[in-house]
Amino acid sequence: MTTPLIELKNVTRRFQVKRNVSITAVSDVSLKIDAGEIVCLVGESGCGKTTTGKMIAGLLKPSEGEILFNGQDITQIKKQDWETYRLGVQMVHQDPYASLNPTHTIYDIMSAPLKAHRKTGGESATRAAAIELLESVDLTPAADFLDKFPHQLSGGQRQRVSIARALTIHPKFIIADEAVSMVDVSIRISLLNTLLKLKDKNGLAVLFITHDLALAKYFAWEGRVGVMYLGKLVEVSPARQLVEAPQHPYTKVLLSAVPEADPERTRQKQRIELRSMDIPSLLRLPSGCAFHPRCPYFDGERCEKEIPELTPFADGSAVACHTVTEMRNAE
Ligand code: SF4
Repeated sequence: MTTPLIELKNVTRRFQVKRNVSITAVSDVSLKIDAGEIVCLVGESGCGKTTTGKMIAGLLKPSEGEILFNGQDITQIKKQDWETYRLGVQMVHQDPYASLNPTHTIYDIMSAPLKAHRKTGGESATRAAAIELLESVDLTPAADFLDKFPHQLSGGQRQRVSIARALTIHPKFIIADEAVSMVDVSIRISLLNTLLKLKDKNGLAVLFITHDLALAKYFAWEGRVGVMYLGKLVEVSPARQLVEAPQHPYTKVLLSAVPEADPERTRQKQRIELRSMDIPSLLRLPSGCAFHPRCPYFDGERCEKEIPELTPFADGSAVACHTVTEMRNAE
């Protein structure tokens, strides 16, 4: 069995919000991501997906649990290996406006990591490398962009620069956190296609974090999707399987709200209604299954009292729901 590129083992992250008051943003999450694999994390805002991404990127430490990179616990690795890890795992943030320094030209932005990590020798080689990277994210003619400032670019072009900058040090793993949510709908698919092309060309693994299941479905069609709810993973399945035969009640609800390309199919689609529209506060998490106050398939005392474990099944899916586990075990 090969060692996963990234492995989360029972990772929990708490934040202190007031004296003696803390919230659990991520709770007992276990997940493996292989080299070259695409995994999407989806869920409503505040479900813990960004916190999970930040912990994997090394920007936040887990309160409990382990994060392994090529089998090594990242909280235990030596300074030199930590550098290798931080270079190997790059994050593309949601806001391309905030992530690029407005006083620097695109060349300054691209050349800084190339020079800092001695990826090129001399100014002309650095310029050529910057052009090649910008072309790889479909910013052409790349030379025309080098002397511009971020404010002279569109939102989509800025996000392409952010992706190109993340690639300067040849990472093995990209965490794209809502990376296309701030750009126009019309250019989202083009940006996703660029990311998919780079993934194939460079053998990158990608963790794509989004609140939009339709985007996850498009981007991770050949990969897996993990659905998070109030800090927990409630379903992890191959994307096609998750879309065609969702298992967890929350996944079913999310999918029932995704519009289809054919408006007639959208009209015919039966929307699954929640028992309650209110999302519980992380300060007062419901007992048992945290989804029970809203779950349309609520099944009494067991759902109210017992926390369901994320249970793996032979078809490659894993689901945290008492009813699903009972049904699948009886098959
Ligand atoms: Fe719904 Fe119960 Fe399953 Fe939770 S455990 S998702 S409340 S059926």
